[in-house]
Amino acid sequence: MNKALRNLPQIETVLSFSEIKTLAERFSRPEVVSALRKAIEQLRHEILADSTVALPDFEGADFASLVAADIENARSPSLLPVINATGVIIHTNLGRAPLARQAVAALRGASEGASNLEFDLESGKRGSRHTHVEALICELTGAEAAVVVNNCAAAVLLGLMVTATGRSVVASRGELIEIGGAYRLPDVIVQSGAVLHEVGTTNKTRLSDYEAAIDETTAVLLKSHTSNFKIIGFTSAPERGNLAKLAQERGVILMEDLGSGVLIDLSPYGMGEEPVVSDILKAGVDVVMFSGDKLLGGPQAGIIAGKREIIAKLKSHPLMRAVRVDKLSLAALEATLRLYSAPHDPVKEIPVLRMLADEIESVEARATRLGKELSNLESLQLEVTPSIARVGAGALPERDLHSFSVSIRSDKHSPDALCAALRQNKPPIIARIERDRVLFDMRTVNDDEIDVIARAVTRIANG
Ligand SMILES: *Cc1c(COP(=O)(O)O)cnc(C)c1O
Repeated sequence: MNKALRNLPQIETVLSFSEIKTLAERFSRPEVVSALRKAIEQLRHEILADSTVALPDFEGADFASLVAADIENARSPSLLPVINATGVIIHTNLGRAPLARQAVAALRGASEGASNLEFDLESGKRGSRHTHVEALICELTGAEAAVVVNNCAAAVLLGLMVTATGRSVVASRGELIEIGGAYRLPDVIVQSGAVLHEVGTTNKTRLSDYEAAIDETTAVLLKSHTSNFKIIGFTSAPERGNLAKLAQERGVILMEDLGSGVLIDLSPYGMGEEPVVSDILKAGVDVVMFSGDKLLGGPQAGIIAGKREIIAKLKSHPLMRAVRVDKLSLAALEATLRLYSAPHDPVKEIPVLRMLADEIESVEARATRLGKELSNLESLQLEVTPSIARVGAGALPERDLHSFSVSIRSDKHSPDALCAALRQNKPPIIARIERDRVLFDMRTVNDDEIDVIARAVTRIANG
């Protein structure tokens, strides 16, 4: 056995030292024990790698303050607000859509005390949580009925279970997608208890392919937004209207997983290709699913909208209880949906849409401001340059959004080290690296965050 290892003290011994005893009073004994165990384990590893490492003075104040810092660290929250300087507006790893002020107020209101979540204020009897947003969704989409669940993945699973368990689902080979987090449409179909009947090819699927596939086992024709990829070139897919007519003639349901799903026409902002939910329903699709926290700009939720009979079956399905939306999300969703009607302007009041529609001049102005605040740092080479931002979360994967960035290169730190230091800032700042430079894309950074970034970069550059 390594001799140096024998010099490591027992936890009990360290606990008896007065500096450490004080810590046990300031924090708690279990926290101190766990921090000591970690520190000694760490030293054991260091010794095994190099038997000459110097051991700390376990009785001294320096060691105690290291232990204290470790406990403080363990006590600090794990889930934190961060600054998204990546230029990806709906960043799944950074929590997707930031909520509108009104949505934050609503979720606070619904959570600080009791709420009428499932209580009918008129009759004084038990109510349904589904009533709070159904009429709003119908108004905004033209759907006959709607229901909200935990997320869009749950919406698709539940939708298929209700309509197609034990029967077959016809889907185009060009739309059998995998999106992040192991969501693969073919697997979801299988999990719903339905049988997948693939039609067409990767690039071309015709109406006649769907037509030939329909038999007495068919329950659903399923369309899906291809989200994070795009097939270009020699491609075709039948028009929705024709598919809807076919579904109706043959007595099957036409369902569409829209993924993001937008409630307003984004073509004034150069994003006309993202399908608007009301247009999809108008084209004759029986039921659609879309996320609450993608382009809609609200909380995590899965919205299902369409024919009354289908929605009624969904509401009473046993799985509904397992995938139901929680009251915080419901409150935030209702408040977000209300911003889509006058006197509100969703493009001004919903952060996701505001970032998307933000004029390039104002993005540039923010970049210039950050550039100015950093301009006196000698160790940095700094540029304010045009850049490309993204919508993210599978919406408009091909779409380049014009943006402006401040990019820096440091004499002292590599780009990776700089990004790592930015992530340790309070609040953490998430930037991206491009051509060996650290880039702050200002399309996703708001005015208030500029000073925070400037202070962090200054501290790191001077440190
Ligand atoms: C994002 C997405 C989903 C999953 O939505 P969640 O709300 O994250 O569950 C499902 N289908 C498509 C096409 C998507 O883009």
